[in-house]
Amino acid sequence: MSDVSLGLVGVGKIVRDQHLPALAATPGYRLLASADPHASLPEVPAYADMASMLDAHPELDAVAICTPTHLRHAQARLALQRGKQVLLEKPPGATLSEVEDLIDVASEQGVTLFAAWHSRFAPGVARAREWLAERRIERVEIVWKEDVRVWHPGQAWIWQPGGMGVFDPGINALSIATAILPQAFFLRQARLLVPSNCQTPIAAELSFADPDGATIEADFDFRQSGPPTWDIHVETDAGRLSLTQGGCRLSLDGQLSLEAEEREYAGLYARFAELVASGRREVDVAPLRHVADAFLYGQRDVTDAFIE
Ligand code: NAP
Repeated sequence: MSDVSLGLVGVGKIVRDQHLPALAATPGYRLLASADPHASLPEVPAYADMASMLDAHPELDAVAICTPTHLRHAQARLALQRGKQVLLEKPPGATLSEVEDLIDVASEQGVTLFAAWHSRFAPGVARAREWLAERRIERVEIVWKEDVRVWHPGQAWIWQPGGMGVFDPGINALSIATAILPQAFFLRQARLLVPSNCQTPIAAELSFADPDGATIEADFDFRQSGPPTWDIHVETDAGRLSLTQGGCRLSLDGQLSLEAEEREYAGLYARFAELVASGRREVDVAPLRHVADAFLYGQRDVTDAFIE
């Protein structure tokens, strides 16, 4: 099959940190153009908006949409209507209704739509899922803490409605938990800490339960200083699993089982190429549904203003 000719929409932190190195390392892609009101990439034709990029490059097969989350739906819808294969950065939309609509449009158009949960491509995730599949889950502890000033510098959108605040990284933990735990789980309690000058939480404590009574506690915090903590610990009827460093390190019963370098986006682009080649769609809304539940069901407490 010929290479997928790709346009990048939104040329911000994640594109520079992850998409460009992954595209350079993954066979099967040609980066043809980018769309962003201000930013551009060396030697890649640049357009101020996606529609202009699509008009100028009818030969584009696919777009990767990497803009702030509240812009996702309108841009993805337009690209799908123009017959493009679409990769959605996480989260796939600001609301569930938007994502359901995109699934419908992609089906009508017969094109690929890929909700790219990058954390699911972390090296330890597949092995963790296999190991847990044979066990009864008793207790899960998720700790996902990072410094917002390091990971989201200057991103005012994250504090606005649709920006999700600490759920922007927290949804990565939920994308792993929903992939590795063998049963569905349900929110029972949530506390969202919202800075007095923001619309979205800077920290969140969530309690879930599964139908067999396992408890799943999640602690998300944007106020971490120093290195991030991206850990999931699972107690089962037959041992303990720790998936740490964002899924790069897996320990089973206290023994190191796997430790590997982070190459999530290479895996993600390889998966998108497979989906495009086979004309399939892959859109799992489970992580976004948990975040929506937290906003629906959570207690909201106001905390100190956030000043970057
Ligand atoms: P970002 O640095 O703010 O980048 C977003 C880019 O999109 C900015 O250059 C922005 O330009 C541009 N943009 C705004 N409106 C646009 C439009 N209408 N058309 C085209 N481009 C537009 O944000 P980011 O960190 O890269 O995050 C983008 C998405 O990736 C988010 O959904 C986030 O959840 C996800 N993500 C981020 C990370 C991370 O660590 N940062 C990790 C994984 C996934 P202006 O700045 O001029 O508005």
